[in-house]
Amino acid sequence: MLSEIKSLDRQYFMNVFGERFPVCFDYGKDCKLYDTDGNEYTDFFAGIAVNALGYSDEGFKKVLHNQIDKLLHTSSVYYVASQARAAKALCDATGMDRVFFANSGAEAMEGALKLARKYFYNKGENRWKVISMVNSFHGRTMATLTATGQPHYHEPFSNMAVGSVYVPYKDIDALKAAIDDETCAILLEPLQGEGGVTPAGGEFLKAVRDICDEHGILMITDEIQSGMGRTGSFLCTQKYGVEPDIVTLAKALGGGVPVGAFAAKQFAADAFVPGDHGSTFGGNHLATTAAEYMVTKLADPAMLETVKEAGAYLYDALKAVHDSAADKTDEPRGEGLLLALPIKQPLAAKEFAKKLLERKFVVGTAGGNCLRFAPPYVISKDEIDALKAELIDILEDK
Ligand SMILES: *Cc1c(COP(=O)(O)O)cnc(C)c1O
Repeated sequence: MLSEIKSLDRQYFMNVFGERFPVCFDYGKDCKLYDTDGNEYTDFFAGIAVNALGYSDEGFKKVLHNQIDKLLHTSSVYYVASQARAAKALCDATGMDRVFFANSGAEAMEGALKLARKYFYNKGENRWKVISMVNSFHGRTMATLTATGQPHYHEPFSNMAVGSVYVPYKDIDALKAAIDDETCAILLEPLQGEGGVTPAGGEFLKAVRDICDEHGILMITDEIQSGMGRTGSFLCTQKYGVEPDIVTLAKALGGGVPVGAFAAKQFAADAFVPGDHGSTFGGNHLATTAAEYMVTKLADPAMLETVKEAGAYLYDALKAVHDSAADKTDEPRGEGLLLALPIKQPLAAKEFAKKLLERKFVVGTAGGNCLRFAPPYVISKDEIDALKAELIDILEDK
């Protein structure tokens, strides 16, 4: 079965994922995934921080089934009930005033970047440059690649969009020095995901807020990975009492249905007028039915408490793993249920992840040779204990 899928993929799908992990999942239950041969795996990656509720939330399946029976799509030239309700739910959860629904994280970022430029265009100011962070990741479209502070993503695509300036993450002086009279925004992930699961921390987030206020420029936070409750608060910045002007979300927003969003404070959102932005699919019935459900469920204080508890338990487990093999790993890092265990060279994190897959644990990797853990929020202590035992066992082997 797998060999057949593999050969079709090799022949017909663009070779952008290279040699994939040698498994094809068929269905899921709770926090378990089952492959096409019926093997059971424990999921510590949730499809890159997407499947926050695991695979057995009956309420989620029910609202989706109901919506599929009614309508998938009409276009946003008409009112869409779930879109309006999901927008309100997202504003309630984030403290923002206005929302736009897109189809992916990158698309949400594109919208946020357009909004920032339009805001200053309306003011008659020639501000269009965005300062972003070294090691950031903001997406794969031209503008979001440009904003991504990792040169190896840029190199093959010459003559890219322009307008990004990169500063080292958490370097307040470099950030101040990078601002000029064409800067429109500072963009950052409050917890860098792809770059290596590195938290910005409260001090840096507050400094960014202050610098933006001082210069009258916009603060954009990319919470596509860190948002939706993953760090134990709905937005990672809420923990630190910092409010951006524009925030982007995706990944867990649709619980697996492709949907992204950017949300803004009223003064910024007002910059868009009819015709400035749009999308055929964005915010359609199916996508926003999923989003309304996910936002409501993940903003619930009891759910956030669950994330905090499971996150602390997983952190302690990873810490114990590190303590057992301090010569082969570094201290774990991250927040809530977005955590990394850095692996010391010459051991490669990717090979380590493959070993775990052979032992029926699904994990990801991230920059800096890290194993990345982003399980469903309903992961159990038993499942974490089992992961810990495998990690220790593999490290002892090496
Ligand atoms: C995944 C991700 C994106 C891109 O989202 P896509 O849905 O893949 O376009 C952007 N920013 C961050 C922080 C991400 O984790």
